Amino acid sequence: MGKLLTVGTVAFDAIETPFGKTDKILGGSATFVGLAASQFGIRTGIVSIVGDDMPQEYLQLLNDRNIDTSGVEIVQGGKTFFWSGRYHNDMNSRDTLVTELNTLADFNPVVPEAFRDAPVLMLGNLHPLTQSSVLDQMAVKPKLVILDTMNFWMNSALNDLLEVIKRIDVITINDEEARQLSGEYSLVNAAKKIHDMGPQYIVIKKGEHGALLFNNGNMFFAPALPLAEVFDPTGAGDTFAGGFAGYIAKTEDISFENMKNAVIYGSNLASFCVERFGTERMQVLTTEEVEARLKAFKQLTQFEIELS
Ligand code: AMP
Repeated sequence: MGKLLTVGTVAFDAIETPFGKTDKILGGSATFVGLAASQFGIRTGIVSIVGDDMPQEYLQLLNDRNIDTSGVEIVQGGKTFFWSGRYHNDMNSRDTLVTELNTLADFNPVVPEAFRDAPVLMLGNLHPLTQSSVLDQMAVKPKLVILDTMNFWMNSALNDLLEVIKRIDVITINDEEARQLSGEYSLVNAAKKIHDMGPQYIVIKKGEHGALLFNNGNMFFAPALPLAEVFDPTGAGDTFAGGFAGYIAKTEDISFENMKNAVIYGSNLASFCVERFGTERMQVLTTEEVEARLKAFKQLTQFEIELS
């Protein structure tokens, strides 16, 4: 059975979209990564921290999907990381209303013994020093280290971010963040510059416009499935990353050809995530639904042009 380790937030989110509003619901980068990866029948370990306000049923929901939460520290009397965001009408942009670090402010991640040999490591969106610390604790060098980050860390911990970026294989980042990190507007040039910072593979997520994969002059594009209704985009980026990492952990094949499939799986799973609030859709997603939509992806992109 494949094994994946991820570090990230297990959080409470309060979300506002044009379709409605939630109270505090289960969210967090590691939660979305774990739920996406659970589609591949692998064992995923989460390293994170929560307060004792995190309901046991939320952790159980993850455990029921073969997600190991023994690396999730529960701080007695502590409060869980809380994030709140409001989406604009186009659903492509959002305002962060609240970020309360709470227990995350003093997080010293400890990787459980059983996951120190994980062949695939997904460093989810967190402080770059926390990401480095997890990488340092691996007893065996992972076959593939994937890192996800966001503008928040570029603005507040750029040097630490550049240090950890040197040590990883794949970076997943959205288009605006790729531009900010590289100082280049063209995504092709941005990928080149980020490549020079360390990673062999650059995945640039473009929301409803799909994702690009770059590696040493090779380039691949995966569309996002055009959906009639996007209900809540929260977690789509993490779900994409979890789908990518989960597929690699299952296949243990890190060739460019196989990474194309990983990008397609990431896009496919993200297209489900946005159909309901928070994790709701990913909690009930079936293999049959995933496969049916993969067929739709194939049809969307397949064409036969005869070339002389
Ligand atoms: P995404 O929509 O994929 O960018 O991810 C949204 C998730 O990221 C939410 O569930 C939040 O709890 C979590 N999140 C928001 N801000 C941060 C942050 N600064 N660090 C880590 N996780 C965050």
